[in-house]
Parts: sequence; structure tokens; C-alpha cells
Amino acid sequence: MSLTPIKRYCLFLIIGLTAVGCNDNNDTSVPSSPVHVSINTRMEYTSFVPTNLNSSILIDAEGYHYNNNIYPLKYGDYYGFAGVIVHITLEGKYVAYDAGCPHCLSKQHPVVPDGMFAICPTCHEEFEIGNGVGNPTKGVTSECLRRYNAQYNAATGIISVNN
Ligand SMILES: [Zn+2]
Repeated sequence: MSLTPIKRYCLFLIIGLTAVGCNDNNDTSVPSSPVHVSINTRMEYTSFVPTNLNSSILIDAEGYHYNNNIYPLKYGDYYGFAGVIVHITLEGKYVAYDAGCPHCLSKQHPVVPDGMFAICPTCHEEFEIGNGVGNPTKGVTSECLRRYNAQYNAATGIISVNN
């Protein structure tokens, strides 16, 4: 039996999607929520620079959590479903995740960044955030953290996170 072109296309699509796995944001149960935050590495966050590997800023209803300080939200900030984690990867790149655990889906108990991992206080799953993927490492869930776009403007020193 030979495959019709459309069947061949579907097969290709299925194989492609399976291979993508965690890289597809639709693969997470964390609901899509508006995200808009910005971090000025020349003002409050002067140490949040690409050489500061595996450091994180958590942004939630309280504000921007960094170095044991909390800086207030700005007008027009949106912090996703359970909060936004902006992280500097092992390669010195800015990445961003939603702090909602895809297994627990709790806004009250978001994952907590700890070095290159973010840990869920409820199910204890550890998500690897230092690699830019946010994949689970313990197998409590097979889903990744929801990722957002983080863009760094070297001219202004500002990191913008959006979805
Ligand atoms: Zn969890």
C-alpha cells in the first residue's frame, strides 16, 4: 500500500511533533496568561548580567524578587499564570518561564528557583531551568514549565519578557 501525499504529510507532522516534545509550548497544561515585564540591568538589577550564571528573578503579585529584596511592579506589568521566572542559563542567555507547576497548576504555590532548577513545593518535581528548556527531571510530570520570550537589548540594558 502506498501512502497518499496527504497521509505522508500527516505522518511527517506526527513524527515532527513528537520529536519537538518539550520545545512546544502547547505541551504544557499551564494556562496561557498575559505576560509583560521588564528588568533594567542598569538600575535596580545591576548584578543580573549574563555572567551571573544560574541566577533568577521571580516576578509575582508582590513584585520583583531579587537578592532578598522586593521591587514593586510597574504600571502595565503582567506576570503570567503563577508568576514569571527570568533566569540566566549556563550559556549566559536570558530565558523566562511561568512559575506554575504543570502538574499542580497552583497559583498559590509556584515553583521556587534554586540555582539551575526550579522546585515545586507541592509535588517536589524539579524543573531544569539552567538549560533554557524547563524540563522535569524527577518524572512526577512529563510536562515542561511554560516558557516565555525574553529579549535583551544591549543598547539599553533592558530585558523584556512577553508571550
Ligand atoms: Zn507540582
